[in-house]
Amino acid sequence: MSAPIVIAGAGIGGLTAALAVAQAGRRVHLIERAAKIEEVGAGFQIAPNAGRALARLGLEEALAAVALEPQGINVRRGRDGAVLARLDVSDVRAQWGAPFRVFHRADLQQVLLQAALGHPQIEIRTGTRLGEFEDRDGVIRLRAHGPEGVEEIVAAGLVGADGQRSAVRAHLLPTERDAPVYSGRTAWRALIPTELAPPELRARESHLWLLPGAHVVHYPLRDGSIINVVVIVSEPPRHTEGAAILALDGPELARHLRRQQPAEMLAALIEAGASFRHWPLFARPPLKRWSRGGVTLLGDAAHPMMPFLAQGAAQAIEDAEALGLAFRQLGASVERTFAAYEAKRIGRAAKIVRASWRQGEYFHLSGLAASARDLTIRALGGRGMLARNAWLYR
Ligand SMILES: Cc1cc2nc3c(=O)[nH]c(=O)nc-3n(C[C@H](O)[C@H](O)[C@H](O)COP(=O)(O)OP(=O)(O)OC[C@H]3O[C@@H](n4cnc5c(N)ncnc54)[C@H](O)[C@@H]3O)c2cc1C
Repeated sequence: MSAPIVIAGAGIGGLTAALAVAQAGRRVHLIERAAKIEEVGAGFQIAPNAGRALARLGLEEALAAVALEPQGINVRRGRDGAVLARLDVSDVRAQWGAPFRVFHRADLQQVLLQAALGHPQIEIRTGTRLGEFEDRDGVIRLRAHGPEGVEEIVAAGLVGADGQRSAVRAHLLPTERDAPVYSGRTAWRALIPTELAPPELRARESHLWLLPGAHVVHYPLRDGSIINVVVIVSEPPRHTEGAAILALDGPELARHLRRQQPAEMLAALIEAGASFRHWPLFARPPLKRWSRGGVTLLGDAAHPMMPFLAQGAAQAIEDAEALGLAFRQLGASVERTFAAYEAKRIGRAAKIVRASWRQGEYFHLSGLAASARDLTIRALGGRGMLARNAWLYR
């Protein structure tokens, strides 16, 4: 039996990559350090560029069953709630081949996990951490620290899909050892029962509220019975080690936002949150390379980014599809496969890392600059705003 491709990390990126590589005919060992594969409860927007890739992996039916398709995205001035533009996304499928969808993270993860569990070429080991590894003449020897002790695995290739604090990245690129640092921005995330939201915000629509030094994104999930609310504020670090350590209740968070003077409707939505989890956002400039020999990176390990274009997972999914395609075309040599995958993906991912950072600056403008931005958004209208992002979704 041929040596497997080992993928470290079973987040959205690792799971999708396991499917894509297995569908290309390779044996995959997916190792995940957590005892159970589960996503922390919150939402995900999956843009058409990622939706198309997931459909090509054969997941369309399963995804459609758990997704919600908002009809529009409302861009609002945060202080008075005025709608600056409404992006009609009801015919996005006709334009870009897949709809805008939103998912409960756990639902998306389950669809990917079930597909991976059902694939005969994929072996999944949870509670198993990737330890040291070496690449000698195209043979990877790695140590997997599992519930039954340490096992040495001989692999044909190693994919580090181990998230933004990737140990594979640190080992692979010692000159790039600088881990992502706190970006000065924190997300506070909560799921709120729809019946507790102000009535104007209960429709199947997404909303983006722009405030000085802050913005808020919310959209309905599942059958519309819950709303995923993400409040992003510029603030000094509280805890920069590990995510989601702190939580604030809605009234506390609304008080925290008082300086930004949010509209009454927005403040009422935030106040309805029982518990907003603290999620400090980390960033680093794009990497100059992702691969060396039989080792490569994928997803947040390769391109940690700010979430302001909602493209982090989408890019991990694009990576996975490109990796599968490279295996189909060049699979005999893992080194050449990884080089081709990197060449295909690194430029676009770097462009999106930079654009996501700029988007945050734009969202958080204040004073005259914010007024000028709002005028531009009004002038562009929903169609113009969508057209501006065509390079992402195409
Ligand atoms: C507030 C917020 C909102 C977002 N919204 C969106 C959105 O709407 N749309 C979108 O596309 N993206 C969004 N993102 C980005 C998205 O969440 C990430 O880009 C995506 O989850 C990254 O997936 P990943 O699989 O690369 O990494 P991760 O999800 O971090 O998975 C890495 C996995 O590797 C495991 N691991 C780590 N080390 C080891 C090891 N040594 N051995 C074995 N396993 C290991 C971890 O346990 C983890 O399961 C958002 C992010 C944030 C913070």
